[in-house]
Amino acid sequence: MKREWDLLHTPGPTPIPPSVDRAMSQPIIGHRGQKCKDLLKELTPRLKPVFGSLENVQLLTGSGTSALEAAVVNTTAPGDKVIVVVAGAFGDRFAKLCQTYECNVHRIDVEWGKAVEVKEVEETLREHSDTKAVFVTHCETSTGVMHPVEDVAKSVHRLSQALVIVDGVSSIGGAEINMERSGIDLLVSGSQKAMMLPPGLAFAAIGERAWKVIEENDRPRFYLDLRTYDKKLTDGQTPFTPALSLMFGLEEVLNLIEEEGLEQVFERHQVMKQMTREACRALHLPLFVADEDASCTVTSIKPETFDPEKLRKIASEEFGLMLAGGQQHLKGQIFRIGHMGYTRPANVLQYISILEIVLKRLGHEFEAGAGTAAAQEAYLSVARELV
Ligand SMILES: *Cc1c(COP(=O)(O)O)cnc(C)c1O
Repeated sequence: MKREWDLLHTPGPTPIPPSVDRAMSQPIIGHRGQKCKDLLKELTPRLKPVFGSLENVQLLTGSGTSALEAAVVNTTAPGDKVIVVVAGAFGDRFAKLCQTYECNVHRIDVEWGKAVEVKEVEETLREHSDTKAVFVTHCETSTGVMHPVEDVAKSVHRLSQALVIVDGVSSIGGAEINMERSGIDLLVSGSQKAMMLPPGLAFAAIGERAWKVIEENDRPRFYLDLRTYDKKLTDGQTPFTPALSLMFGLEEVLNLIEEEGLEQVFERHQVMKQMTREACRALHLPLFVADEDASCTVTSIKPETFDPEKLRKIASEEFGLMLAGGQQHLKGQIFRIGHMGYTRPANVLQYISILEIVLKRLGHEFEAGAGTAAAQEAYLSVARELV
């Protein structure tokens, strides 16, 4: 049964704004025609502020992992020494990609649920001064941690010539990040998280230093060769047929972001994070991540008194509230709430209120209404007055 009333609060895919849905249903156009050129030429510069990038953002057709793979194949050659921060499933994916492409991988394994400390990266870099690139995830979606990628980038550049390559799949469009200010060299993302689109588009923002390495790198590559994307873009084209409908949607996504204001978008995510976390505390739901490491796009909870899979099942069956479970060894240990993209404080009030009922069903002890009240209070204390 298709349930159009489902409330999708997984940390990707995420709900699509109705105006974006409508934009995506426009008639298809030729991808070598003038209309497509005009569209791509319009979209590219408008993506820059979202990534805090001085350079153009390249559009790839593929899921987020295609952009991760593009980052690896374009910047590294077999045998290159790379450092990968691994604190969850997505850091692990970056490490596996680097291994697959025969890099000499040094993992910094961080306990899942914690953020990497900048000094750990510095120490590893001192031991491996010939490192070519440092790979780090911005929001580690599997745990709900936000790594201090801007500080990592600054440190890496102070100590070495290595590139800093960041996976921003579940943060771009929700969390503030600035390549220019921090010196992040390559920042990749995908469409189906905070960018409010269906899966299928991937993004790569490539800084000057990274371009130099990419131009000189002779590792064979074809579909994901970023050089051909950049060359084609000067003519307003992509090397291969792009996901045109998603590009129509992206135009509307950028309209929405610009109408709200990028700063306000970031602030809204901070407000939703605060509301969710305060509500969890009031409901005696143990937060998996400490405040200082917590992501503004996804919150993980590690219940001690009930099975999180049971909670997810009731929430889905009774209310259509879709939450995510844990990945790998956290399966059955945690549940995750996505609050990014087309999600607003009103939706937080809704899912917290639903959670209270589900928790009652599970026999979890708390004062009825305490979560909702805490979310309301958090909203009133952190949200700017909306006139
Ligand atoms: C979702 C996600 C990805 C990419 O996943 P795809 O399924 O390939 O789109 C990569 N990194 C992070 C941090 C993610 O959250």
